[in-house]
Amino acid sequence: MRKRKIHVNQSDEDNGAETYTQKNKKHSRTSKRNSKAVAPVEEPKFYCPICMCPLTEETSTKCGHIFCNSCIKKAISHQPSCPSCRKHVTASDLIRIYLPTTE
Ligand SMILES: [Zn+2]
Ligand SMILES: [Zn+2]
Repeated sequence: MRKRKIHVNQSDEDNGAETYTQKNKKHSRTSKRNSKAVAPVEEPKFYCPICMCPLTEETSTKCGHIFCNSCIKKAISHQPSCPSCRKHVTASDLIRIYLPTTE
């Protein structure tokens, strides 16, 4: 009877069964694609915080807030400050901007 050296702490030689520890651990990724229905890209609409309507002639203040041209002009004629953040804004601080809409 041949004695086999097995480098396992347990020296259970009675049991001559070889320990087969060849587990094929395949890490199969379940790469199921989330078939989320992609909604058609809607045109971004920005609303004027003054008139609560879609912007017409978008005009930005120097603080970066956007209003309708007529709304912000009316607002600063009453009070020379941004209706959104109250920063001092005069008519010369208004910048007509053009949002990239697809109209
Ligand atoms: Zn407006
Ligand atoms: Zn502002």
